[in-house]
Amino acid sequence: MDMSRRTFGLAAAALTLPAPVWAATPGKTTLEFMSSPLGDYLHVLLVRADKPALPVFRPDGFPAAPEPGILASIPERVARQQLTAYDDVEPLIRAHVSRGLEAGEAASAMAELAPSFEYLRLGKPFYEAFEAYWRENVQALSQAQISEWRLQNEQHGLLDRLATLHRLPGLKVDALPVVAMPFHASGSGTVDPPGVYSSLSRRPNLGWFLGHEATHLIWSGATGTEWEAHPLASRARALAEPRSIDLEEIACLLMQVALPQSCGMIPADYRISAAFPDGGMKRLLGSLEENLTIYQTDAVRWPTLIDYVLETSLTALA
Ligand SMILES: [Zn+2]
Repeated sequence: MDMSRRTFGLAAAALTLPAPVWAATPGKTTLEFMSSPLGDYLHVLLVRADKPALPVFRPDGFPAAPEPGILASIPERVARQQLTAYDDVEPLIRAHVSRGLEAGEAASAMAELAPSFEYLRLGKPFYEAFEAYWRENVQALSQAQISEWRLQNEQHGLLDRLATLHRLPGLKVDALPVVAMPFHASGSGTVDPPGVYSSLSRRPNLGWFLGHEATHLIWSGATGTEWEAHPLASRARALAEPRSIDLEEIACLLMQVALPQSCGMIPADYRISAAFPDGGMKRLLGSLEENLTIYQTDAVRWPTLIDYVLETSLTALA
């Protein structure tokens, strides 16, 4: 679960890019499961995301930790592109930055990447040792998670099932990379290029992970349907934002439970709203969960999940 949207922030900054080259027929998306030693290394180097289940990789002379937030989402992008050569990382970042600037994205958001190249170079001499570490300690764990995900997807057709819950066409991409990232803090998604990323779990649940992260993509104009273009969106946002409620994130939380529940992967009576303190967020999520079965049977009142979440926001947050 990515409640902080840390890694999603950068992806969201690229929403206004020109028509994506990966556009394809909605609803025809296959999941491409993958792992990436280089992406994993960049998580260790840049984020210092050590995990109790894995030995700490800290060879002599390893650079001290960088500023938090620097190069956020770069491990994911590198993994998603399946880069294997360390020297290809910097050009990938430069291409991402210049695409963002060309599209008129905030120079400050893009410029924060630039000072990090020097740091990135400090990490290069240790990558070979990490590859050996990865083969010995990480590869089998990532593969085990991918095997379990693949099985779950074969059983339940999770992305199509999710699009059905949304009553939306799904994703405008032929393939969605689904990346096992052992050093990831939790989960994240990028829309440009599209991909979803998850840490490892003792009990992998692709429904939970995809329900959340693929919902971000399904609600984005670049990869799915732009929820902010809905006629109720500005009124709902005006109620939600002063309370620090992110309506897209609410939809993701709702679907991260609804999707696995729809195929029996978690108990039917589980309520994610129970985990939140009293307030607008709990009230809104609770109301959405409580009436979800009514939504599912009434496609006239709520043609899509976007209608359902926005209309419910107007009453729950009024
Ligand atoms: Zn999220």
